[in-house]
Amino acid sequence: MACQQDELRRYLAEAYALEPKSIFGVRILKRSIDARQRNIMVNLKVRVYVDEQPQDDAFVPTTYHDVSNRPQVVVVGAGPGGLFAALRLIELGLKPIVLERGKDVHERKKDLAAIGRTQQVDGESNYCFGEGGAGAYSDGKLYTRSKKRGNIEKILNVFCQHGASTDILADAHPHIGTDRLPKVIENMRNTILERGGEVHFQTRMEQLLLHHHTVVGCVAGGKEYRGPVILATGHSARDVYRYLAAADIAIEAKGLAVGVRLEHPSMLIDQIQYHRRDGRGQWLPAAEYSFVTQVEGRGVYSFCMCPGGFVIPAATGPEQIVVNGMSPANRGTKWSNSGMVVELRPEDVAGDDALKMLRYQEQLERDCWQQGNRRQTAPAQRMADFVNGRLSADLPQTSYAPGVIASPLHFWLPKPISSRLQQGFRIFGRQAHGFLTNEAVMIAVETRTSSPVRIVRDPESLQHIGVKGLFPCGEGAGYAGGIVSAGIDGERCAEMCAKYMNTEC
Ligand SMILES: Cc1cc2nc3c(=O)[nH]c(=O)nc-3n(C[C@H](O)[C@H](O)[C@H](O)COP(=O)(O)OP(=O)(O)OC[C@H]3O[C@@H](n4cnc5c(N)ncnc54)[C@H](O)[C@@H]3O)c2cc1C
Repeated sequence: MACQQDELRRYLAEAYALEPKSIFGVRILKRSIDARQRNIMVNLKVRVYVDEQPQDDAFVPTTYHDVSNRPQVVVVGAGPGGLFAALRLIELGLKPIVLERGKDVHERKKDLAAIGRTQQVDGESNYCFGEGGAGAYSDGKLYTRSKKRGNIEKILNVFCQHGASTDILADAHPHIGTDRLPKVIENMRNTILERGGEVHFQTRMEQLLLHHHTVVGCVAGGKEYRGPVILATGHSARDVYRYLAAADIAIEAKGLAVGVRLEHPSMLIDQIQYHRRDGRGQWLPAAEYSFVTQVEGRGVYSFCMCPGGFVIPAATGPEQIVVNGMSPANRGTKWSNSGMVVELRPEDVAGDDALKMLRYQEQLERDCWQQGNRRQTAPAQRMADFVNGRLSADLPQTSYAPGVIASPLHFWLPKPISSRLQQGFRIFGRQAHGFLTNEAVMIAVETRTSSPVRIVRDPESLQHIGVKGLFPCGEGAGYAGGIVSAGIDGERCAEMCAKYMNTEC
């Protein structure tokens, strides 16, 4: 939201009978929007500097020591889990060796841009793999269901120290934006390097090094890296799950949610959420929404909403279509999208092995690729057509760069998913007048909402339950969902790893 400092000063001077010139600065401490009524309120908590210069304490910086000659820890994966683990290790006086299969955050961007042009996905450099992980080219929403405020503040402050706007400390629903995240991630990498850590790109972990049921390092890119391992490889590293299962390192099937991306014109969402014909007008941000209901004993809900954003191709390999969403910092595109997903529990899927949910995801992604003409062209259907079981005769323009193709999603999506989505959409349409409309288009298929596997760890020591010296971390291990919670988990794994090294090494 554009912050009108001058207007704020004028208002404060008038309201508190202050001389305008005596207000040296105003800092917004908290900002939220209350759009429940027609009269929309922007609630601000501010600190006003009267006859004194504003203090330079917009965020709390962390001190990072030189760790060049300190004992080393291997961190696999440079997503938020791995990056925050690495930075916390440095704080604790340990040297992180970060191994990342993908490219650095800037090189990676070229491979993302190529997907729309070539209809091909690079299996090592895509929307899920590469520096910054799945969170790099995203909306950069920084809210979490975690209740531990202190931990959240720490993560947000570290982002600010590395170049994120301090607005994220004030906003009730902070986000960074896909155009600003790469620079922040690059700055985090530079802190790791400047303080004596290492970061190796295009270095994929292939195998753990085990000695008497203790992990003593790993092999990546054909080279050995020694130290305990923080394994932060994200929800899409299917080769890692398959390797763990084959090596008899305990993992278990985990519930997830699957569905579609739903895209509306952002003007329509603004009109609905702000109850105004002219939408968001001049001052308000692109509107958000959140829906949740239960249908036949399973949750149906909106997921990872991206106001003013894009739908993106998030597959990580051949013969898959996977969609997701991202937004720039200004959330300024003419579309607003969200995942619309149905909860899927392990008992909903046949089989009893640890990889059955992963195979379910894979099958759905392959079906979608076949329906999409065996390219990245995604099958799509207008929302009301889907609810009424009709093929869409045409499709609206969408933000999805590789293109969409009309397809009867109501027909080929698995029945437990499609019928719950149909019922869920009817409910949401009653809750928000105008939401259930043929102006909205569903783009298939959204499967990477969380990990299909849990890498089982001890809740206290955070070590794997079967082998010592292995710290399954973040979303891929099944202990986080989102940038902030993965960052928090990364910090916790680093702390437990430091404790382990003090006692064991
Ligand atoms: C398009 C998109 C948009 C999203 N938007 C948001 C959002 O706005 N807000 C939010 O909170 N969350 C969002 N998420 C989810 C969020 O990105 C993840 O929850 C978060 O990134 C998980 O962090 P992580 O570090 O656990 O795993 P990841 O971010 O997945 O990182 C794992 C890293 O490990 C690397 N890796 C995998 N295997 C290996 C290997 N064998 N060797 C070496 N490296 C390996 C990968 O390349 C990757 O960089 C989004 C996700 C996507 C895909």
